[in-house]
Amino acid sequence: MQPTTGTERITDWLRAAGAERPAPVVDAATLDDLREGLDLLARAAAARVPDHLRPLRLTKATIDALLRCPRAGAARLAAADEGPRSGPLLVGALFEQVAHLIVERIVDPEADGPAGTFDRACAALAVASGEDVDHLVGDDARDLLEEQLFERVRRFRSSWRAPLHPAWWYRSEVPFEVAFGDGAAGPAAVLACRVDLSFGPTPPALGSGGRPRLLLELKSGRHDVAHLDDLGLYLLAAALVEGSAPVGGAVWWAAPSTPAPHGVLQTLPADAPTLQSAAVRVGRALEVAADVLGGRVATIPGGHCRFCPDRTVCPAAASSDEFGDAW
Ligand code: SF4
Repeated sequence: MQPTTGTERITDWLRAAGAERPAPVVDAATLDDLREGLDLLARAAAARVPDHLRPLRLTKATIDALLRCPRAGAARLAAADEGPRSGPLLVGALFEQVAHLIVERIVDPEADGPAGTFDRACAALAVASGEDVDHLVGDDARDLLEEQLFERVRRFRSSWRAPLHPAWWYRSEVPFEVAFGDGAAGPAAVLACRVDLSFGPTPPALGSGGRPRLLLELKSGRHDVAHLDDLGLYLLAAALVEGSAPVGGAVWWAAPSTPAPHGVLQTLPADAPTLQSAAVRVGRALEVAADVLGGRVATIPGGHCRFCPDRTVCPAAASSDEFGDAW
C-alpha cells in the first residue's frame, strides 16, 4: 500500500535504510582527500582576511548567500547569520522552531492558535539564536506572518504522526561544527551546522551527540532542489566530524505549494559525488568570503534578493515583481 502521510513516507525511508544496512559508500581515502583540500582552501582564504575575522565562520545560509551574490554573502558574514531577516526567511525560521517543538511533543499548535503559536515560536527562536524578532515585526506585518506561519504549521501537523519507525532513535536540532585548517592560532574556518532530525539505531551516550546514520531536513515552503545542497553540506560535515559518512539523508517539504497534501520526500545518498559536490561549494564560498572580507564586493541580483539582509539598501536589488514566483 502506498504511504499517505509524511511520517509514513519517512518511516518507509527509515525501514528501507535499516533493512538494507548498507556499508559506508565513501572510503577513508576519499574523506581524507576532501578534508585535506578544504584545510588548504581554508588556510588560503583566512590568510587574506584580517586577524579579527578569523576563523571564517560559515553556515548553510552564509554559503548559499556567498555563492549567489558576494555582497549578500558579505552582509550575512557581517550579521553572523543573526541579522534582520526578510518576511519569508523569518517565517521559515519560526516554522523550524515550531516543528522542533511538535517533534519533541512539547506543544499542540491547534490548542495555541495562530497568535499563541507565533508567540511560542518567537520565544523559541530567541532562546535558540538570541534573536529578538519583536523589533522586526510591525503590527501590520504580525497578522500576515501569524497567518503564514500557522498555515505552514497546520499542514505540517496534519502530516506528522509520532512516533516514527520504532527501530530508530532520533534527535532534533542537534548543533555541531567542523573546523578546517587547524593551526596554532586555532582553525582557519568553521562550518556550523544544525540538522533538523538526526537518526541513529540506538540512543547516544549521555552528553554525546551520537553517530547519525541518517539526516532529515524539514521544510515548510515550496519544493526547491537547492535545499538538497544544504543537506549535502550537512552530510559532508557529519562525515568529516565522525570520520565515516552517514548512510544518507532526505528533505521533507511538509507543506509545499503543490497539490500533494502530505508533501514531498526526496532522498540524497551520502556517496562520493554528494560529498565532493558539497566540498566544492564550501571551497568556493571560502574564496568568495576572502574576496568580500578583503573588499572585493560584487552584486549579482536575482530572486534571492528577497532573502538578502541588504535588500532595503542595495541599489542593485531586484524587485520581487521581476522574479515573482519563479524563485
Ligand atoms: S539585494 Fe540582491 S543584489 Fe543586492 S546584495 Fe542582496 S542579493 Fe545582492
